Amino acid sequence: MDREVILPREREPSLRIEDFGEVVSCYTEEEAIREASRCLQCKEPLCINSCPVNIDIKKFIAQIKKRDYKGAYFTIREKNNFPSICGRVCPAEYRCRKSCVLTKKDDTFADKKAIQINFLERFIGDYGVRNNLEATSLKDERLSKFKVAVVGSGPAGLSVAGELARYGVKVVIFETLHKPGGVLRYGIPPFRLPEEILDGEIDYLKKIGVKIICSFIVGRTKTLEELFNEGFSAIFLGVGAGVPSLLGIKGENLSNVYSANEFLTRVNLMKAYRFPDYHTPINIGRRIIVIGGGNTAMDAARVAIRLQVMNKITPSVSVFYRRTEKEMPARRLEIEHAKEEGVKFNFLVQPKEFIGDKDGFVKRAVFLKCRLGEEDSSGRRRPVVIKDSDFIEDCDLIIVAIGLKPNQVVTKSVLGKLDINKEGEIIVNPNTMETTFRGVFAGGDIVGGEGTVIEAMGMGKRASRGIISYLLSCGEKFSP
Ligand code: FAD
Ligand code: SF4
Repeated sequence: MDREVILPREREPSLRIEDFGEVVSCYTEEEAIREASRCLQCKEPLCINSCPVNIDIKKFIAQIKKRDYKGAYFTIREKNNFPSICGRVCPAEYRCRKSCVLTKKDDTFADKKAIQINFLERFIGDYGVRNNLEATSLKDERLSKFKVAVVGSGPAGLSVAGELARYGVKVVIFETLHKPGGVLRYGIPPFRLPEEILDGEIDYLKKIGVKIICSFIVGRTKTLEELFNEGFSAIFLGVGAGVPSLLGIKGENLSNVYSANEFLTRVNLMKAYRFPDYHTPINIGRRIIVIGGGNTAMDAARVAIRLQVMNKITPSVSVFYRRTEKEMPARRLEIEHAKEEGVKFNFLVQPKEFIGDKDGFVKRAVFLKCRLGEEDSSGRRRPVVIKDSDFIEDCDLIIVAIGLKPNQVVTKSVLGKLDINKEGEIIVNPNTMETTFRGVFAGGDIVGGEGTVIEAMGMGKRASRGIISYLLSCGEKFSP
């Protein structure tokens, strides 16, 4: 039997940095079958327990091997509404692949021998999209009289909307931005998740009756109470964690210092790279510094290098991170891709101050060197600043990607009715995802803090079950 890992083909780094086209290809049928054939079909498949939504990985891989792609699609859809998205962005190296028995046990990132579960999932997800496979309708007449508002169109909101619509509930999604998708649209660049994949999944929701209203801020345009008064029987809050954390250092307000969220939104959502065809320009520096070590930092660095190449600027993008590569929370694949594309990495360094010119534009960054200290609450070794270790780097653009906090527009509009914790995250019953405000449910990053796409979708799925039980128990009382 063929035991060699089959990796998907990737575009050449020197070519792919010239545009925003997708980097990793989908398996061919032959490649998928060869990879699926390596699976040992373990008696106790550890991969399944490591999946946040417990997809029956063993079963869908066996179905691929038998060329039953339709069967494999529906096996995945039992737990995950958007396999073509998760197959592209799931941090499998930290989850299912890491637990696969074929992973060498003594090296955290040596999962190269593991079954490439995420790429197989993508193969099946794309097969489903290409063949217009639709999850079976579970229409329940008792539910068709109810209308539910979903606030936010990220993975949590899309997942709730899809599930409720399958049961025949009328769903309206309200989204602040002018296009739906949340981070899938404005954060993750198209070279990782092409727009047509996201659009295809959103079009499917519209086809099954979900209405999407954009440019609508719940908490401002309308309050939760107003939505209830308009006949919505329940409300789901999937408003994410879209507020950037700040460094709190001198010079952070200089021009050409961007938060990664603003930078990525300008490029991915507002198409800044196509200015003046699109109206949101962006300053493209000659020496770009990115601060942070997560997925957002990797996306910002890889977008920045593309912008430089597209503008015929010699690429110069450097990531500065206060721990070492081992502690970086970004996906290993994205780190490798960033390196291949020419992004430089500086570890154990922390910014102290940004210095501008007389017109207020950033020109230099002062850094301090660090060493690793004791483990912190996240289990990673804490960076400790080394005294008098200052050094200066020239730059003309800085992108700060050090984390995100909950967006509190909605929660602040219902203070006292909806309990939040000290981080501003909404407190829910973890089984039903119901909040302390009756009839209001929540999920995704606004509940768990910065997480992953599949975790947000999983919470959405759980919330849809909670909402359905709630609607059925309310009966006529909430009938619109
Ligand atoms: P979001 O995706 O943030 O969506 C929330 C939506 O709610 C937004 O569209 C927002 O505009 C809208 N909204 C907010 N307030 C209101 C309001 N008052 N009224 C109406 N609408 C409102 N995870 C992975 O698994 N893999 C990755 O590779 C990965 N890469 C990432 C890259 C970046 C740059 C970022 C920022 C995150 C990444 N993540 C990744 C994390 C993942 O994207 C999030 O965990 C996930 O998107 C959270 O989903 P959500 O639905 O809770 O919120
Ligand atoms: Fe297959 Fe690995 Fe899961 Fe075993 S742990 S069933 S080999 S994917």
